[in-house]
Amino acid sequence: MRHAALLLLTLGAAAGAQDTAFTHADSLRGGYGPARSWWDVEFYDLRVAVSPADSSIRGSNGITYRVLRAPAAPRELQIDLQTPLEVDSMVQDGRRVTYRRDGNAFFATAGGRPRAGERRTITVYYHGKPRVARRPPWDGGFAWQRDSVGNAWVATANQGLGASVWWPNKDSQADEPDSQRVAITVPDPMVNVSNGRLRSVTHNADNTTTWEWFVTNPINNYDVAVNAGAYEHYAGVFRGEQGPLTLDYWPLAYHREAAEQQWRQVPAMLACFEHWFGPYPWYRDGYKLVEAPHLGMEHQSAVGYGNRFQNGYLGRDLSQSGFGLLFDFIIVHESAHEWFGNNITTKDVADMWVHESFANYSEALYTECRFGPAAGAQYAVGVRRNVRNDRPIIGTYGVSAEGSGDMYYKGGSMLHTIRQLVRDDEKWRAALRGLNATFRHQTVTGAQVQQYLSAQTGVDLTKVFAQYLTTTKIPALEYRAESGGVAYRWADVVPGFDMPVRASVGGGPLQWLRPTAAWQTASVPSGAPATLRVDENFYVLARDLAAPAKAAGSIP
Ligand SMILES: [Zn+2]
Repeated sequence: MRHAALLLLTLGAAAGAQDTAFTHADSLRGGYGPARSWWDVEFYDLRVAVSPADSSIRGSNGITYRVLRAPAAPRELQIDLQTPLEVDSMVQDGRRVTYRRDGNAFFATAGGRPRAGERRTITVYYHGKPRVARRPPWDGGFAWQRDSVGNAWVATANQGLGASVWWPNKDSQADEPDSQRVAITVPDPMVNVSNGRLRSVTHNADNTTTWEWFVTNPINNYDVAVNAGAYEHYAGVFRGEQGPLTLDYWPLAYHREAAEQQWRQVPAMLACFEHWFGPYPWYRDGYKLVEAPHLGMEHQSAVGYGNRFQNGYLGRDLSQSGFGLLFDFIIVHESAHEWFGNNITTKDVADMWVHESFANYSEALYTECRFGPAAGAQYAVGVRRNVRNDRPIIGTYGVSAEGSGDMYYKGGSMLHTIRQLVRDDEKWRAALRGLNATFRHQTVTGAQVQQYLSAQTGVDLTKVFAQYLTTTKIPALEYRAESGGVAYRWADVVPGFDMPVRASVGGGPLQWLRPTAAWQTASVPSGAPATLRVDENFYVLARDLAAPAKAAGSIP
């Protein structure tokens, strides 16, 4: 998630917001200032009691951190928790810690003089009625719902909005704990499913039960989730690249049969993605699919599923190729994020294209796994109809500002185009696997991913990334008849753009051209028309300058 078709409705408003100046609050949330950078989170010990009766929560988070370097005065830790939630107290080394509030950020005074290498724990106690999700997963928060037979059904979804909408943490993608406890207390007989593995189930005297989950890997804060309802559980095993991987399925009880049918797609999905991306990143935490009262979300090792047990994206094919109706979009897209987004996480949301471009592209790869390379290509080309070219894909750094929703379809089209440039599918696959091995369980910058792909494929992709990620222009291959041939050049491109392209000249077989912004000429056999047709696997336009009225291109 979290874009796809339905979000188009809200993008207009989001685009408008981008035009305004960023606020002090945006800098606190999206930056990595002095109150964040001196300490590194090692462990979150999150314990929250959830009360559907009055839509409130109460709990604590013990934040264990390592001091990276002695902080300068005033030696503060920025801990984020969004209004209207209230901090009750903060405690470190058995002593209450003073703090000041600045909107959604709390600045706690670190006691004593923290020394580099020290490990400390500050525990934040809090309570309140968290923001109610308006249209999860896109406009998220806490969803207090009932299933169709009237049982309470509660879930969180907070990508973009931030995990601090319901629990106190360093709300930046740049810092992940090495492990995390998620102990959620819910009224009986609700079952809570969170990330990682279930360690204990404790029945309390007040007719509540504490479900203690534990994640033994680094995890994005936005992936930590509550899913509480009338769940049933069944299990399976996937024999993967690193041995047996546990599969745990948590549908609502009355959806168990539907789940057992629809969720059979999971092993084929895992086999495909292990082939292309390398081993599933969380063998120790397992793979889970959890029914959710929203469309879906890549909650790590507990993927949220709300696609109504049908293929496509809510029954639709976003590629209009036909292939999108042959698999369950949410199982495929959200699970792909286990590699791109969860295994490899971007430090700044301005680089969210690393999550969503690869997740979109993974839908085409899955189509290829199941139905062959031609089908995969049709899917990859088909999703281009959804590109808007409204704003650049890379957002604004340091202010919690994502770029255009084009990070999905255009980003995926860019990757499909790059695969053509690599001209060697095994090398391309090795690069995708290498990305996941090299940056395993890490946070990265988008630039690191770009540089890695250039280095591993042996193709300098600098200008290609610059074109597709920082401009809204589609490269246009302009051409015109010239004596004995066809003249061609790139237009609407960044300086120095010289991406090779496969094209048919004069109706002949596909051949490689290496256009630049300067005119070159390709010869045409005598009698053949002075035409140029670009292989549709490249996300570019072909523009016949002799026919300016016709906005011709290779793109459907
Ligand atoms: Zn996604």
